[in-house]
Amino acid sequence: MHRLVEETAPFLLAPLTGSAGGVTVAGYTLGGGLGPLSRAYGFASDRVLTFDLVTADGVLRHVTPDTEPELFWAVRGGKGNFGVVTAIEVGLVPVVRLYGGVLVFPGDCIAEVVGTWSRWTTDQPDAMTSSVGLLRVPPFPPFPELLRGKLIAQVRVAYLGGTREGERLIEPLRAIGPRLLDTVAEMPFAEIYSIYNEPVDPLPFHDRSLLLRDLPAGAVEALVQLAGPAADSPVVLTELLHLGGALTLPAFHPSAVGARDAGFALHTLGLASPDEMAALNLHLDELIQRLAPWSTGRQNVNYLSAADANAEGVRRAYESDTWDRLVAVKRTYDPDNIFRVNFNINPA
Ligand SMILES: Cc1cc2nc3c(=O)[nH]c(=O)nc-3n(C[C@H](O)[C@H](O)[C@H](O)COP(=O)(O)OP(=O)(O)OC[C@H]3O[C@@H](n4cnc5c(N)ncnc54)[C@H](O)[C@@H]3O)c2cc1C
Repeated sequence: MHRLVEETAPFLLAPLTGSAGGVTVAGYTLGGGLGPLSRAYGFASDRVLTFDLVTADGVLRHVTPDTEPELFWAVRGGKGNFGVVTAIEVGLVPVVRLYGGVLVFPGDCIAEVVGTWSRWTTDQPDAMTSSVGLLRVPPFPPFPELLRGKLIAQVRVAYLGGTREGERLIEPLRAIGPRLLDTVAEMPFAEIYSIYNEPVDPLPFHDRSLLLRDLPAGAVEALVQLAGPAADSPVVLTELLHLGGALTLPAFHPSAVGARDAGFALHTLGLASPDEMAALNLHLDELIQRLAPWSTGRQNVNYLSAADANAEGVRRAYESDTWDRLVAVKRTYDPDNIFRVNFNINPA
């Protein structure tokens, strides 16, 4: 994805990228694609114009809303279940200015940071996308030396506007107190990935996710209890991404990407060797169960994890009528389930 961003940025245009430049345009976009431009412009998958797809019968199809309407609907959300995308044409959006970065607060402020951030999100413009992360920074590279071994709360912001308005908007966050790090400033759009600083090397991570309707005080309290300073937990990151805005709008060309009513996306993960996995999974599951009362009951396709790679887990990503239609499309184009090493839509 970073190459597309680099190519389009000089024209003040951008694809609806996510937080990591290393993911592929097809893999990210076909799972919905949530990122720093989402509240302003919606799901990345809604901007797909056409794609070329090799289906299970070996045929290369040029898929458009007019030529192959069912495939055009299903692959955007059904991802790798219907074939291999060999080319994809996506619409770009204008990006003139970007004000963004990260505010890092010490661990003892976590309750205040999450509480303030959740209230602050309620009146932000759609041009502002943000997340809050509770992070037990592992004591080794590639994590920044300054933060290694510390418990921190980080708020990452991306505002599609200039410094003056951006500073005014994030003032209530800065007012929480002194930051260990504050990188928020105006930057060229091509530097967007510096806001997120996602790891680029493989890591042995295990994760879970959940879509939340809202984030009232009870949910914040549960989160802080399980991921804050008092918790004895191997979980490395618990992050909430603010959704809403243009994400709630129906797509111009409907797709299998659902869960447009969620207010927040929760993603939590830890690092574990095979013999540490069971203990880590208990903590991850506990966190998801505690937050379940505020869940929409759905998951975002891109955030499905190994723990969801079963019939029940995959179905949670789709509404029931969407699921029935996906199965019907799968029966037409891949009746023998050739494409099954994925979050599988089983034709049977
Ligand atoms: C560090 C990091 C940050 C992330 N941040 C975000 C984010 O901000 N927003 C978000 O929405 N997601 C995010 N994700 C999730 C990411 O979008 C998914 O993991 C996505 O599946 C990655 O696609 P890939 O092609 O790079 O990976 P791969 O592991 O190569 O592919 C994953 C799956 O995608 C499908 N796929 C990939 N390429 C094709 C193709 N050409 N044709 C058909 N199917 C294909 C297949 O089912 C494949 O198994 C992040 C992931 C990571 C690792």
